[in-house]
Amino acid sequence: MALTAMEIYALLPQTNCGECGTPTCLAFAMQLANKQASLDDCPDASDEARQTLAAAAEPPISLVEIGSGDRKMKIGNETVMFRHEETFHHPCGLCVCIPDDAEDAEERIEKAGELWFERIGDMIGAELVAIEDTSGDADRFAGLVAAVLEQGTQVPVLMSEDPGLVRSTFETVENLADARPLVYGANEDNWSDMAEVAAEFDVPLGVRAEGLDALAELTPQIKDKGVEQMVLDPGGEDALETMQMLTQIRRQALENNFRPLGYPTIAFARSDDPRKAAVDASTYVSKYAGVVVIEGEEPWQILPLATLRQNLYTDPRVPPAVEAKLYEIGEPTEDSPVILTTNFALTYFTVVNEIEASRVSAWVVVVDTEGQSVLTAYSSENLNAEIAAEAIKEVGLEDLVNHREVIIPGYVAVMSGALEEESGWSVTVGPREATAIPTYLRRKAS
Ligand code: SF4
Repeated sequence: MALTAMEIYALLPQTNCGECGTPTCLAFAMQLANKQASLDDCPDASDEARQTLAAAAEPPISLVEIGSGDRKMKIGNETVMFRHEETFHHPCGLCVCIPDDAEDAEERIEKAGELWFERIGDMIGAELVAIEDTSGDADRFAGLVAAVLEQGTQVPVLMSEDPGLVRSTFETVENLADARPLVYGANEDNWSDMAEVAAEFDVPLGVRAEGLDALAELTPQIKDKGVEQMVLDPGGEDALETMQMLTQIRRQALENNFRPLGYPTIAFARSDDPRKAAVDASTYVSKYAGVVVIEGEEPWQILPLATLRQNLYTDPRVPPAVEAKLYEIGEPTEDSPVILTTNFALTYFTVVNEIEASRVSAWVVVVDTEGQSVLTAYSSENLNAEIAAEAIKEVGLEDLVNHREVIIPGYVAVMSGALEEESGWSVTVGPREATAIPTYLRRKAS
């Protein structure tokens, strides 16, 4: 939590010696508060002042890095309780959990590797695969962790409470520590040995304790063992209690700057009913897990969670947009239809998906509407006949097609006459809903 200038001033020597380059300690404190100076410039600053300022500069929720290279993900370092206050910065990780005594564990790892989906231009899916030590067989456990690592589509999570087994896995599986897996984890009984393993291999550590008080007692001790990056599991009897504790952890960290709970969290959606597990998982995505673990590798279990997460972690102040330009869908020729739409990402990708489904190649003119959808853009004057005509002209379509017909969204049929006048093109009113595009285009092409 940032300190005020007066709080910083109270920590300074108050001799006004001027050696920091400012005439008074108060002026220097004001510079420090505005992050325009460094305490290193004051030769007489006490150790207490240095420690207090360093602690104040730390984020209230630590940033934790899991994975490496292309698979690196960052969780934590959130600054607000509610998305509308600013934005959420680091999307939670989605983790598929596979017990190592499952006969089909290898096939399930393979299946988890396919849990990636393209949505509005981003690849979304499960970033983590946890191998759960349910057999006690160190070779089996290490072999499955190695399989996740070799597959390369997800980062492994070593889920075991046995520090010896975790250590032997790091020693057996080549390059495992470099991949920076999450180890889950430490508890009230094994924390000392588990912290030593995590510190030795420099990997983040999941910490579980029954309730917030127990967690708050454990984390400083684990930190003293050299583990800076932790992910907290407060337990919880059911989804409601878990969500309440995840909320408390976030609140304590953000509002009270309570360091022992200033870490991202991990939550488990376990249920005999996979539908309930999916619903519980969606609760944890919303409030406030850093990693959500779910049993099951079916796309219907992961895709809705990944979609929810993508929506939650989008900056509400910036509409998702694509570049405004001419797009070739399929292999358009000089006879292909020309379709006009806006650069709101959801609109663009919906339209493109439907054009692709029609199997009719087309030119798509995307107008810069500041990321607004068709009707919103039209009502805010970000889409009108003048702007659409300018977009058609700018992309150079006249040299690419041998016709002069543009199809506009059905919702802005009202601007067709004005657009014909502005552009000199013949305007055809297309469907209102994107779902009607395939039938519309096929009919037009026949
Ligand atoms: Fe004050 Fe330190 Fe600056 Fe001297 S060098 S004026 S003691 S802040």
